[in-house]
Amino acid sequence: MRYIASIEPVHPDGSVCTHTPRSRQETGCAGRTGYVATCAGGGCTWSKTDQRRAALVAESTSHLTSHLTAPATSH
Ligand SMILES: [Zn+2]
Ligand SMILES: [Zn+2]
Repeated sequence: MRYIASIEPVHPDGSVCTHTPRSRQETGCAGRTGYVATCAGGGCTWSKTDQRRAALVAESTSHLTSHLTAPATSH
């Protein structure tokens, strides 16, 4: 099983922001207050939010490592 972590920007209400910088004004985008990291694969529902993208890169990396070291018990 392959697990893939992704990091996306989020609005103040926690929804993922898919607006491009150009369209954000036109669509009334509420702005981005942080980022959310999610894990996909094997039914994993792990997610983590933080204001700093760099922090989530470290979090997602360690999470993916946990799949490798304890695949049967981590979820
Ligand atoms: Zn947005
Ligand atoms: Zn996971």
